[in-house]
Amino acid sequence: MEKEAFVTIRKKLSRTQKQLGELLGVSLKAIHSYEQGWRKIPLHIERQLWFLMYQKKNNAKKNIIPCWERKFCEFKEDCPAFEFRCGEMCWFVCGTKCDCTRNIDVREKMEICRKCKILKILLR
Ligand code: SF4
Ligand code: SF4
Repeated sequence: MEKEAFVTIRKKLSRTQKQLGELLGVSLKAIHSYEQGWRKIPLHIERQLWFLMYQKKNNAKKNIIPCWERKFCEFKEDCPAFEFRCGEMCWFVCGTKCDCTRNIDVREKMEICRKCKILKILLR
């Protein structure tokens, strides 16, 4: 995640740097370093941000369409996102079986999820 995207999400979450640090369980100094580009933003922090954004945007919504329906997924029977019925949080689950996320590590998966329309729909 780029520092600009981090700042954008912090603002969408209506948090100061200090407040976001409390929310993520990291120091104010760490938040400052992420935003200045002095420290790389860890993947687990990025995933936490996506999760918080997702909850903020979708908590009140009913009838969320799961990923396997949006993607007309042929691989769902083997996929943990389907097994655990978290088709709206497939980006959070490791080992998903989308044609684009099969047999790759979490870093590569997040790179693909960042560009995926499913995640974009959920976070907008
Ligand atoms: S994460 Fe991908 S493979 Fe898994 S159910 Fe959703 S669309 Fe299918
Ligand atoms: S690429 Fe990522 S966000 Fe998109 S459907 Fe697959 S797991 Fe979900």
